[in-house]
Amino acid sequence: MKSNIKINSKRLLKSIEEMAKIGATAKGGVNRQALTDLDKKSRDLFVKWCKNEDLKITIDKMGNIFARKKGKNNSLPPIMSGSHLDTQPTGGKYDGALGVLSALEVIRSLNDLKYITESPLEIVVWTNEEGCRFPPAMTGSAVFSGNYKLNNALSIKDLDGKKLGEELNRIKYNGKENCNPRPIGAFIETHIEQGPILEITKKSIGVVSGSQAQKWYEVNVVGMEAHAGPTPMNKRKDALVGASELVLLVNSIGNKFQPGGCATCGVLNIKSPSRNVIPGECFITIDFRHPNDRTLHNMDKELRLEIKKIAKRCNLKISIKQILELESKSFNKQIRSTIEEVASSLNLPHQEIISGAGHDAVNVNDIAPTGMIFIPCVDGISHNETEKALDQDISAGTQVLLHSMIKLADNPIKTNKNI
Ligand SMILES: [Zn+2]
Repeated sequence: MKSNIKINSKRLLKSIEEMAKIGATAKGGVNRQALTDLDKKSRDLFVKWCKNEDLKITIDKMGNIFARKKGKNNSLPPIMSGSHLDTQPTGGKYDGALGVLSALEVIRSLNDLKYITESPLEIVVWTNEEGCRFPPAMTGSAVFSGNYKLNNALSIKDLDGKKLGEELNRIKYNGKENCNPRPIGAFIETHIEQGPILEITKKSIGVVSGSQAQKWYEVNVVGMEAHAGPTPMNKRKDALVGASELVLLVNSIGNKFQPGGCATCGVLNIKSPSRNVIPGECFITIDFRHPNDRTLHNMDKELRLEIKKIAKRCNLKISIKQILELESKSFNKQIRSTIEEVASSLNLPHQEIISGAGHDAVNVNDIAPTGMIFIPCVDGISHNETEKALDQDISAGTQVLLHSMIKLADNPIKTNKNI
């Protein structure tokens, strides 16, 4: 390994801070939701930085941005790295931006040394990873990987009724390139862990083995509005009471399917809330995860069975719709061992880890050899304005990315198998 090649930590940290100014919140976080004016600003800044490095920019019909640095042999598929620039409404500086800017730092460092790899290199920015404005999440990489239809993605509406496709046109990131999966030699996404494990085990690098299975649902609980005064308790069809039982049910399913089960109700809305009206309709979202597909299936079975009981007990109509399903995935073995070898030779403490969150890499894994590098985040906190990653971990993760990309670009993977 050419260990004299190093990234410029100062420049990387400065770029992360500069990007975080776009959509900066008072509490030190970032609110830069997909396809807003702020998302456009962050994309423009990224493209400007890439052009300074002489990279060729391509944008596809989903607004995914690819920035390419030529290799010695440009008939080889590129070694790609990147992530997303959109954030949650109460997002942090590192979720997504770290993956994009660490890849940019790799290219900048190689350009400083005029180092040209055998395969070309590419940075990618995936559209709408968070899915908070346009659910579901990770639609840019899902369309690219053939896991979601382009037209369906472009028609997703936000709460104001604006379509994803219209917003993409408005911010002028509706590219011409087809979203068909283009050849990729290897894809590595660097990301904060978004959980506490690496911090607890005092490791600066997580070699991600794969991702959990997920199911997302939308639930409508329908009862009947009635006056809070004259309506006796035993005559009510209180949708909020049913919704509350559902929230407790979801939590108990998560606790029951340990180790590994995660179960969350993230949104609970009362339709036309009023303090002296019994709630007639509620909307709830559910997010189920487990590393094992079979166990997740059992969580699903229990949810559906118990929902029927709640509906009966509370005299309500409850309808449940599953809007997302992801199987558990294993990342490419050669990429995992490349990341592991690089971390070892740089004397960085590291371990294998499963990804608790969904990531664009999980979609790309379906069509190309893929891996992920995790770095710890303080107290495991993410999707929060206080999200923080330590400077030394950011540098370590990017240094591992640099050498992993060089290794893969100079010795391209010959098989496309993930085993
Ligand atoms: Zn992310």
